[in-house]
Amino acid sequence: MAKVLVSSCLLGCKVRYDGNNLEVNTSEFDEFIESNDIISFCPEVAGGLPIPRIPAEICGGTGNDVLDGSAKILGKDGSDVTKAFLNGAELTLKMCLDNDVEYAVLTESSPSCGSSSIYNGKFEGVKVSGKGVTCTLLENHGIKVTSQHQLARLKI
Ligand code: SF4
Repeated sequence: MAKVLVSSCLLGCKVRYDGNNLEVNTSEFDEFIESNDIISFCPEVAGGLPIPRIPAEICGGTGNDVLDGSAKILGKDGSDVTKAFLNGAELTLKMCLDNDVEYAVLTESSPSCGSSSIYNGKFEGVKVSGKGVTCTLLENHGIKVTSQHQLARLKI
């Protein structure tokens, strides 16, 4: 059994910004969860953000730009939540390193968890190519990340 860190909101935990979880509803996902050693984790809650919380987007770049300090993560109300997101990303990495986790399945399009797409930073509901800050940090440390939509990419 491979150890896999999975976004808590995909596992029925009501930790999203709106106080809900995110249903996956595919037999492929259910089988994946049953056949691996799953560690549930939510970077944003770990980073100190409340449930519910103001929706946030990466403004002016991608997760990589947030990590190097050239972009911020802002709430829809203009609040700067970059520090909490970075804190959550660091704690997610620590969880992986402490538990020898080599794989992660993270929720697509989240400013933390997105692995192929994120929102464009204008709160228009428009997605663009890019990765979230937690996904980027994990990948920078050799952890293989995919989303709930592309489980086969992990090649476990
Ligand atoms: S930070 Fe990740 S795990 Fe937490 S609610 Fe957002 S998408 Fe889900």
